[in-house]
Amino acid sequence: MKEFNFERFSRQLGETNVNIKSAIVGKDAFIVGLGNSAFQDILFRARINPKRKASALSEEEKHAVYDAIRTMIDDRIRLGGKDQFTDLYGSQGRYIPVMGPNMNGKTCPVCGSLIEKMSLGGGQVYFCPTCQK
Ligand SMILES: [Zn+2]
Repeated sequence: MKEFNFERFSRQLGETNVNIKSAIVGKDAFIVGLGNSAFQDILFRARINPKRKASALSEEEKHAVYDAIRTMIDDRIRLGGKDQFTDLYGSQGRYIPVMGPNMNGKTCPVCGSLIEKMSLGGGQVYFCPTCQK
């Protein structure tokens, strides 16, 4: 992750006139290895609506997304990966996504709104309609 610094991230987001999902996940993404699950986590942590355009984010919002990516990656490493996966020794990862299918039918831990789901970029994305603007 040594190439992943805020200046570069911010510049790339500004040049990307696409939905923020395309900037973070998939073949055109500029960060390698993040999936739809990570995307939902990141945007919930950053309090950004999944439908936003990458280039329309304010400097403050870009910082929030950047910080959310770093925090999520650190948490995943610290907790041994996602909870669906086991490592070489058979111990299960303890990282539970803060947002995703596991939140279906539940309320937001921050504001209490019912979590909603939308179709986006060929997948389902869960989000909080109140926190994520
Ligand atoms: Zn909320």
